[in-house]
Amino acid sequence: MTQRLAEILAIGDEMIGGARLDTNTQYLAQQLSEIGVQVAYHTTVGDDPRRQAEVFRVAARRVDLVVSTGGLGPTDDDLTRQILAEIMGVNLFRNEAVAQHIRGIFQKYGRVMPESNLVQADFPAGSRIIPNAEGTAPGIDADIELDNRRCRFFCLPGVPSEMKAMWHDYVRPQIVASSESPQVFITQVINCFGAGESQIAADLGDLIERGREPVVGITASQSIISLRVTARGATEADCWQKIQPVETFIRQRLGNLVFGTGEATLEQVVIDRLQQAQQTLAIADFGLSGDVAAALSRAQGNKAVPSLVGGLYRAPEPAERHVRPHLDTLRAHAGEIRELMQTTWGLTISWPFTPPADQRPHLSLVLADGKQLVHETFPQIGSESLRHHRSVRHCLNFLRQKIEELGQNPSSFV
Ligand code: ATP
Ligand code: MG
Repeated sequence: MTQRLAEILAIGDEMIGGARLDTNTQYLAQQLSEIGVQVAYHTTVGDDPRRQAEVFRVAARRVDLVVSTGGLGPTDDDLTRQILAEIMGVNLFRNEAVAQHIRGIFQKYGRVMPESNLVQADFPAGSRIIPNAEGTAPGIDADIELDNRRCRFFCLPGVPSEMKAMWHDYVRPQIVASSESPQVFITQVINCFGAGESQIAADLGDLIERGREPVVGITASQSIISLRVTARGATEADCWQKIQPVETFIRQRLGNLVFGTGEATLEQVVIDRLQQAQQTLAIADFGLSGDVAAALSRAQGNKAVPSLVGGLYRAPEPAERHVRPHLDTLRAHAGEIRELMQTTWGLTISWPFTPPADQRPHLSLVLADGKQLVHETFPQIGSESLRHHRSVRHCLNFLRQKIEELGQNPSSFV
């Protein structure tokens, strides 16, 4: 079977000018590789009709599939539909059902619809509509024939959330189904925290090399590293059979860095563990604005028996910023908050001590359960907001690990 080649087009002046990072292309490139389509080119072009038409023609001549994002909106600089029609040598037709849908969206929000919005209901003759449940602009699925070869274009809006939903609901299944030998693709996402992307990549060795089966991709977002293991097979069971040994290998290599799969978040894992063990937690937070409690509270929703019982947040006073948090104080607070709230666990988060320039700031955490105390510090790097964000994750990860470890290994106490 010859492998199909794809090109990804990002359309918009904001990407050309550098005002906006082209994250759509990154996303689509990963997704296309997962389903076995080789991405041959990434092209970015501004909102300029002549250049955009040129880019469309070049792509139509050199690849089998094109996925474009942007330029589908109602404004004069949104040109994708006109250019497609021009290259296909056909007229645009208004689709009344889509026009009605767009009018309906404006009515629903009680807004007056500018007539120009209806251009989003225009499609090149012979093209197919890609439904957009989230926004007004549907996408376009069209075949372009140039020089006796056919190329299929999937044109999606630029808004990342709309683009992703339409990719999943329509484009990905269409591409999979149109393959010469249709196959099933399954992706298992394994989430890790506690080491950098390059460290994890090094630990996994050649597992993440290109061209391997199953494909293993690595992405990082706000200190969470996700490994995406994608297998193809004749059935879903086939795919899972291929994924399983790879997942086992990853878990063996990375051990406790792995905190969950799929949509799992650190806060959800902590809440689930507490719920399973029927344990409760209270937090004395002197440095992270109550953000750890807020994350846990969102994760627990309105559970009948809450695991996060409550806590105390106090903003650090300016003078405290230069005083190194004393371990004894942190330990005392962990015990006190636990007693006050009558919980299984008490956690203290230290204030953001700003050390002299030759020392690194660090985050100190103490967890108490009435008999035992564990303490850990995490060096902090990066800007203040980055540190804050990462510290919240460190707290959640510390909770996840210690709640489990303390039950099993009572020798690790301070
Ligand atoms: P709309 O109906 O919203 O006008 P559109 O198809 O015309 O949709 P654009 O106007 O090009 O899309 O972009 C809409 C939003 O999506 C903008 O905020 C833009 O910055 C963002 N966006 C566009 N392309 C990309 C991209 N490649 N990566 C990330 N964001 C993008
Ligand atoms: Mg637009």
